[in-house]
Amino acid sequence: MNEKTEKRNIFNGDSAICPGCGETLTPADLESFARCPYCDYQFERDALFDDFIVAPLVKGWVRNAHRQFPG
Ligand SMILES: [Zn+2]
Repeated sequence: MNEKTEKRNIFNGDSAICPGCGETLTPADLESFARCPYCDYQFERDALFDDFIVAPLVKGWVRNAHRQFPG
């Protein structure tokens, strides 16, 4: 149960806090290797991780959709 709570605290909207070194990471830092570029922490590719990686993409799609179909 503790592990789940901690994991949720890693990902926070557009940024993630590395559990290994405490650096703030972006989806771009993790999308290629799922590793922290600072300390090489290996992130688990689970649902939370996937959500974090695709979040900016989804936002882009939504933005594009609004631009294409205003109102
Ligand atoms: Zn790290």
